[in-house]
Amino acid sequence: MNDNNQMDNDQDKNELDFREVNEDGTDRTDQMSDEQDRSRKTEGEGTSDKDGSGYEDVCFICRRPESKAGKMYKLPNNICICEDCMHRTMDTVSQFDYQNMLNNPDLMNELNKKNGFPNISFLNMGDFQNNGGIPNSQKIKKKKEKEKTAAPEFDIKHIPAPHKIKAKLDDYVIGQEHAKKIISVAVYNHYKRVAENAMDDIEIEKSNILMLGPTGSGKTYLVKTLAKLLDVPLAIADATSLTEAGYIGDDIESVVSKLLAAADNDIEKTEHGIIFIDEIDKIAKKKNTTSRDVSGESVQQGMLKLLEGADVEVPVGANSKNAMVPLTTVNTRNILFICGGAFPDLGDIIRQRLNKQAGIGFNSDLKDKFDKDPNILSKVTVDDLKKFGMIPEFLGRLPIICSLEGLTKDMLVKILKEPKNAILKQYQKLLALDEVDLEFDDGALEAIAEKALEKDTGARALRAIIEDFMLDIMYEIPKDDNIGKVTITRDYVEGKGGPLIEIRGDQTVEIPRIQPQIAGGATNI
Ligand code: ADP
Repeated sequence: MNDNNQMDNDQDKNELDFREVNEDGTDRTDQMSDEQDRSRKTEGEGTSDKDGSGYEDVCFICRRPESKAGKMYKLPNNICICEDCMHRTMDTVSQFDYQNMLNNPDLMNELNKKNGFPNISFLNMGDFQNNGGIPNSQKIKKKKEKEKTAAPEFDIKHIPAPHKIKAKLDDYVIGQEHAKKIISVAVYNHYKRVAENAMDDIEIEKSNILMLGPTGSGKTYLVKTLAKLLDVPLAIADATSLTEAGYIGDDIESVVSKLLAAADNDIEKTEHGIIFIDEIDKIAKKKNTTSRDVSGESVQQGMLKLLEGADVEVPVGANSKNAMVPLTTVNTRNILFICGGAFPDLGDIIRQRLNKQAGIGFNSDLKDKFDKDPNILSKVTVDDLKKFGMIPEFLGRLPIICSLEGLTKDMLVKILKEPKNAILKQYQKLLALDEVDLEFDDGALEAIAEKALEKDTGARALRAIIEDFMLDIMYEIPKDDNIGKVTITRDYVEGKGGPLIEIRGDQTVEIPRIQPQIAGGATNI
């Protein structure tokens, strides 16, 4: 008897909970059919964005988005169920033999004792308050309905002309004139082609770019600057982590997922973005291998359809496909692919070819003419790249090849002081906050550049070198309010003397170099 009372109380509580969800105090079971009717009506309005969030609804059971799964039934607490799942659930429920169960007094007694159905526990709907438990990072933004008279994505007038793109790049990237020119024209043509798309059916071919150049010469920097200027999403991926689907490593489509994330899950923006794949030389065909080349040739094969333009299914908010992640389709036709790599052994292949040509006939040249050419990569041909291990189909889809020069001392000095966010300008700004002027004399700049050249990591070495000796300055200067100006000299950079310190009121002193006590931890290349 006691047990039964307890059960009644519990049932009352459950009903109370239910009423709380409904807010208006009406019984939910009465509302069920009304709600279904209403949700069906909402679906009739297509993918209307009633909540104004701009994200598609995702089925709570199968996790497919609205664009894939079609109509959604909306349940309380923002839970959506697609039609398929709803039917499947209804079928399962209707197959259950309730009548037989109710007619079986033994089973009913058993159930009453256990206070409920065996193996069924009730979910607390309150746990799914937020968007049915699915975070926005796993949802995709709705595609805007295209009007027939809609203007093209990129108005041709708004695409800056190549010379303007290059002029902007000049503000940030030092040297690399030829590469900047090639890229400006390629990008201009690419986005012109995207715009043209809506008006004409003469197809202009895609102009993906292959960028060769030593490490630290500005490949990534160039692409980053470009994406910022054009205000398009950019994904930077590393070819070394890519493997054929099914093997350990990232699937090739994961590069598109990254772009989708960079575009805030907005498919329209994604489809006009830029994907930069670095270290592309690492997916060259492996030589003398008897096993399956899952991270080399197979990756090149797998990338073919992406580069050319295809519909790819990509997971939203994750790097790999699995049952819990919603998928969406992205078309890569208008995505600009830029592949970059240092191609370290390519120089030898080019040199061999050039030496062979130079040594034949009356006009034969000195055999070692090309041995010391620092910009040997600029003489690359498609045949050299094939010899290096890139497959012809892959190269065919990267019709524009541009090479970046190795940085010289002069270029390194300019990189130190000229770009809009040059390293020296950053330090000067920091010290200006303490009302101290910071200057580097020409000798100091050259000394830094010389040190960087020795490290052979291009412009990347510059910051490490500067951080090393600026540590003392940044530590000591704020101690003394009388210091008005600091001048860094060659001697100070080379460790032979100290910087010139100007005390407020025109007095100049040279302070002895303070050897950094924590220098051991300051080298961070
Ligand atoms: P990589 O060619 O290996 O991709 P990065 O583009 O990453 O090299 O260059 C590293 C850093 O060096 C950049 O962040 C940038 O600050 C600087 N840098 C390299 N080349 C240039 C350049 N030509 N002009 C200005 N800065 C450069």
